[in-house]
Amino acid sequence: MICPACKADGDKVIDSRPAADGRAIRRRRECLACGKRFTTYEQVESPGPEVIKKDGRREPFDGDKIYGSLRIVVKNRPVSNERLQAVVSDITAKIKNEYSGGISTAQIGELVLNELLKLDEVSYVRFASAHKRFSDKDEFITSLKALPRSLQVIKSNGRYEPFKREKLISSLSIALRKRPVSQRKIENAVDQIINKLKNRDEVSSSELGTMLMNLLREIDEVAYIRYASVYRKFQDVSEFTKEVESLSEEEKLER
Ligand SMILES: [Zn+2]
Repeated sequence: MICPACKADGDKVIDSRPAADGRAIRRRRECLACGKRFTTYEQVESPGPEVIKKDGRREPFDGDKIYGSLRIVVKNRPVSNERLQAVVSDITAKIKNEYSGGISTAQIGELVLNELLKLDEVSYVRFASAHKRFSDKDEFITSLKALPRSLQVIKSNGRYEPFKREKLISSLSIALRKRPVSQRKIENAVDQIINKLKNRDEVSSSELGTMLMNLLREIDEVAYIRYASVYRKFQDVSEFTKEVESLSEEEKLER
């Protein structure tokens, strides 16, 4: 049990007795970390409302199902399991308290979306598109535009990292080292890429690499030829950047 005072996980039970006419057990606990005493009640889990499915069939509510589908939408996202479990408990409590007469799967979907919006934007988008919440595509796109921007780059190892304008500028600057191209032109080129990505929430690093390479071809043919062959070996902009950097090192050594 997490201590309400210091959030440490670890306590000892110092007293245990029946409560609510034997329908619950009341336990006094003491935090092993800070010594704070607190009370917990254990009782038979209330079954919760029936879930009314799209075809009208009914089934018992099962919080584990929400947890299961959320596990899928937060895959590779920076969302801890503790955080996810807390979200599921919140949704479950809300459903048990406010929908005792029954809840439709669409209503559950709405509750889940509201929580996901607070938790992680990319997960929200995945869930919304997987559950076809929106009746048409325009509606979906309008909803995406309303989200705060946070473009995520999916790296070749499956990890995500936030998109960084500076990182793209430095990749291009390295590729264009000693070429007659101004910093301003490089920045404009990067903003062109950003503009193309403005309605996206994810881009793979290999796609980003291809966009970068296409731009390079327009800006400076020599830089493009010099690095295109190198780039094609790599799935990943960061690998490319490393290779280009090592090439530049060799150039310096040769001089
Ligand atoms: Zn404590």
